[in-house]
Amino acid sequence: MPHLNILVLPGDHIGPEITAAALEIVMEARRLIGLPLEFRHAEIGHASLQRTGHAIPDSVVDAARSADGVILGPCDTYGYPPVDQGGVNPSSRLRLSLDLYANIRPSRSIAGVPALATRMDLVIVRENTEGFYADRNMFAGAGEFMPTPDIALAVRKVTAHASRRIARVACEKAMQRRKKLSLVSKANVLKLSDGLFLREAKSVAAEYPELAVDHVLVDAMASHLIRSPQAFDVIVTTNMFGDILSNEAAELCGGLGLAGSLNAGDRHAMAQATHGSAPDIAGQDRANPCALIFSVAMLFDWLGKRHRSDALTRAATLIDRATLDVLADPARRTRDLGGSLGTHAFANEVRERLADLAA
Ligand code: NAD
Repeated sequence: MPHLNILVLPGDHIGPEITAAALEIVMEARRLIGLPLEFRHAEIGHASLQRTGHAIPDSVVDAARSADGVILGPCDTYGYPPVDQGGVNPSSRLRLSLDLYANIRPSRSIAGVPALATRMDLVIVRENTEGFYADRNMFAGAGEFMPTPDIALAVRKVTAHASRRIARVACEKAMQRRKKLSLVSKANVLKLSDGLFLREAKSVAAEYPELAVDHVLVDAMASHLIRSPQAFDVIVTTNMFGDILSNEAAELCGGLGLAGSLNAGDRHAMAQATHGSAPDIAGQDRANPCALIFSVAMLFDWLGKRHRSDALTRAATLIDRATLDVLADPARRTRDLGGSLGTHAFANEVRERLADLAA
């Protein structure tokens, strides 16, 4: 099988630290299992703004388009200058340019890791290209504008096409899991836009008679997740609701440092932690790299299926398992989980466990 190209974009603040940690593990997996992968690196974020005046230059988007997969570190999007001064959000630019319309965000309780929810195992499937995110839901210009200094308006976009394709991803995911799908909307108030999402999602779900499908309003879902997170399997929803609910779900089962995610389309996929660039702990070897490590495992699983590579699928399973095994030991955790290991030391533990598992 020809080698696959992975583009690595370390991002800002803790981004380079956790990306280096994840890559240590990936390189070990490549050595142990013989993965058909080559890596290229490119600068984005503040480093790129300083050097080129753009947080994500066109050349990086082109490189991502021609890569087989992307590993994206978190970016300090809030700290960038305005868009017309180069401060484009790299994550949203890549999601749109590569048509990464599905953001898959699993949340599961991890054996031994203290968490509010101890029996939770769900996946939030979040629409990734439209909805309330007015900075990226227009063909040209932005859907957020100010007619006067004291009035700000934002346009929300929901289309039948995007609703159907995200619903299909969620249905397929639920079919591989416990066959339970929850459609989440605010269709009681946003009757046209969320009504459209719900209509299309229901129509796609009807093609899967084996699935148990329900509809939950987003505010109720915020409560249900606290009260009975174990009741849910796959949740599908629009962009911003998915973003917020997935942070809530991540916190319930151990925190943002564990929250991996995959942005996937029909032809491209990008590993990206759910959390941001954590400026408060940057440069201190304190960040938990697990979220990005789990995200990379998801990317390898996606690539393994797409390219029918048993080696990549095995690497995904082993990286995930090795990380869970290390997390199970309270003495080998990072500080956000009450441990004392630094980012690099934690990655070393996972690397060693991976070698044991692959032997
Ligand atoms: P954040 O997710 O960066 O941090 C929130 C809290 O969680 C902080 O206390 C941080 O220390 C902690 N945290 C996050 N990741 C951690 C990790 N791996 N290990 C240990 N602790 C971790 O959110 P924020 O502080 O609101 O945002 C910082 C910047 O990140 C902003 O510019 C924001 O726009 C951006 N952001 C980017 C993304 C993304 O790239 N997907 C997502 C959210 C926020």
